Amino acid sequence: MIFRQLFDIDSSSYTYLLADETSREAVLIDPVLANTEQYLRLLTELGLTLKMAMDTHTHADHITALGKLREQTGCITMIGEQAGSSCATGSFGDGQRIAVGSLVFKTLHTPGHTDDSYSFYLEQGNQSYLFSGDTLLIRGTGRTDFQNGDAYQQYKSLSNLMQLPDTTWVYPAHDYKGWMVSTIAEEIQHNPRLQVSTADEYKQIMDNLNLPNPRLMDIAVPANRACGNADQAI
Ligand code: FE
Repeated sequence: MIFRQLFDIDSSSYTYLLADETSREAVLIDPVLANTEQYLRLLTELGLTLKMAMDTHTHADHITALGKLREQTGCITMIGEQAGSSCATGSFGDGQRIAVGSLVFKTLHTPGHTDDSYSFYLEQGNQSYLFSGDTLLIRGTGRTDFQNGDAYQQYKSLSNLMQLPDTTWVYPAHDYKGWMVSTIAEEIQHNPRLQVSTADEYKQIMDNLNLPNPRLMDIAVPANRACGNADQAI
């Protein structure tokens, strides 16, 4: 498997490029519009064909590259069915299998940060990978105070993710502190938000974060509902 982790400095977002080494077919997870040229360059340099671009959820802090990538490469674009996106090529529900070459991602509906939040689970030989979106961050979890966020749902989603194999690599959609990758075992042990014993306790933590709204929220959410067409935000 070919695997690259890319970082957007402006929004502290991670984008993941994964490809089947044999067929050279690739997928991008959570691509950022401003970095489209970089993705196209990397695909060319590695000799890959972009087959699919998919988002873990409707982002509030950056504009998605899904629409632009489809326009430029003819790739399929996918987002969770709860996003209600009419411009994406297709949507997925819980427990579906999405194949790109020999790579098969299992979709896990993990609502809480948003109602359209998904995590993608991939097995490669003995190793598994979780692309956890904003549901499970490294030593943190995604906020639950807008876009139909719900701390109780997130607690349940996180409990489900904690059932995955301990050695699963965890690759989140963001990091603000320099973390790049973790494992399920590491997060169970060291993630402060997971050291609670009840959903009510979790809700209490999430209710007291007092975070400011993302800078781009009013632009990004409407634009992302239109697959990254920023004109829709005006
Ligand atoms: Fe988010």
